[in-house]
Amino acid sequence: MNSLPEFTTQLKQYLDQHGIEWKNMRRTLHRFPEVSYQEHETTQTIIDFLTKLGWHIERPLDTGCVATWTPKNKWDATHHTVAIRADIDALPLQEEGKAKQEFLSQNPGVAHCCGHDAHTAILLGVAQTLAHFYNEELLDPSAPQVVLVFQPGEETTPGGARLLMEHGLLQQLGVDQIVALHTAPFIPTGHVALKEGMLMARPDEFELILHGKGGHAGSPHECIDPIIMASDVVTQFQTIASRQTHPADPVVVTVGSLHAGHTFNVIAEHAELKGTVRTFSKDQAELVKSAMQRIADGVAASYGGKATFTYREGYPAVVNHPEPTTHLQQAAQTANLEIQPLEKPLMAGEDFSFYQQSIPGALIFLGTGNSDPDIDSQYNWHHPKYNVDEAAIPHGVALFIQYLSTHSSSNP
Ligand SMILES: [Zn+2]
Ligand SMILES: [Zn+2]
Repeated sequence: MNSLPEFTTQLKQYLDQHGIEWKNMRRTLHRFPEVSYQEHETTQTIIDFLTKLGWHIERPLDTGCVATWTPKNKWDATHHTVAIRADIDALPLQEEGKAKQEFLSQNPGVAHCCGHDAHTAILLGVAQTLAHFYNEELLDPSAPQVVLVFQPGEETTPGGARLLMEHGLLQQLGVDQIVALHTAPFIPTGHVALKEGMLMARPDEFELILHGKGGHAGSPHECIDPIIMASDVVTQFQTIASRQTHPADPVVVTVGSLHAGHTFNVIAEHAELKGTVRTFSKDQAELVKSAMQRIADGVAASYGGKATFTYREGYPAVVNHPEPTTHLQQAAQTANLEIQPLEKPLMAGEDFSFYQQSIPGALIFLGTGNSDPDIDSQYNWHHPKYNVDEAAIPHGVALFIQYLSTHSSSNP
């Protein structure tokens, strides 16, 4: 069997030949984005591509799919089995950007502005490379069995990852390790970043209605002004992180929307607030939730009003397990990607955490940031101008193939 340098050279040649196909695939996916749980055409594109290569398809959910090289009835669930996950959904937003002119979204109000088109193209690239390596017997037989997960609905609760885990297919296949990547505009192309432990936050949501008593703006003494209540509540919410949780625990409380009233001379009847809470544990989230309830009730009561507070749990925090993190780190080194230190976790959320609840898993950030005006890929996730430097697509493929080879006994 091949030694690692030889394997790496063959891999590089293969990527050089086929990188352009995956770039084109990313553009096709980008042109026809679909929102969470509606990824029907996307799923068909993926299935057509995989079936031609000889992969076997399972469809545990309405959209998305799971692919294995060996058919399920011949599968050995006791063999070391790893899953690689790509999320396939887009966002309900109107995109912009000169750099994307050639492949702008053809579906109005829907756009791939979180890089999931690149995630999908990378995993299809992995599928094509693996098919070639399996057919040519270039991968070590001791390499783990591979499950490719094309997951729907990352952007919207309950989370496609959660639905897949509830279905139980990955458990039936005996997946004992899972990895994924996310494109990262804040990291230059050619670099990656990862860390063991806390990586991404728990993104919960809240809604608050403050009920007052409307009336003439010139007679505030006859009204209960919900805008005054809302102002106090917003300010007091900011004391939760500074005064009620441990200073070393990262906590964010953001009011993202505040609506009350319609005109100059009327005191509104009520105010509506919406926002998000970011923490790293359920206990922490519970603490914040009860503090918010106390503040909302207390402030409202102090003015003679009332509060209706609703809190919805989002995804758990992404916490990287040590073993897959080490494997990804080794893979990045072998794939010649520069590893950037990542000292602090991010306060964004990811439903990859649902896999990590029962399968050791790690998520890595793949650098896609490039300030070249023709690429212009440094806008943050979910920005209308968000773009991916396509030069990073073969890096992602190399990373995952090397990840598999780090498990093989002859490729230490
Ligand atoms: Zn996103
Ligand atoms: Zn994303």
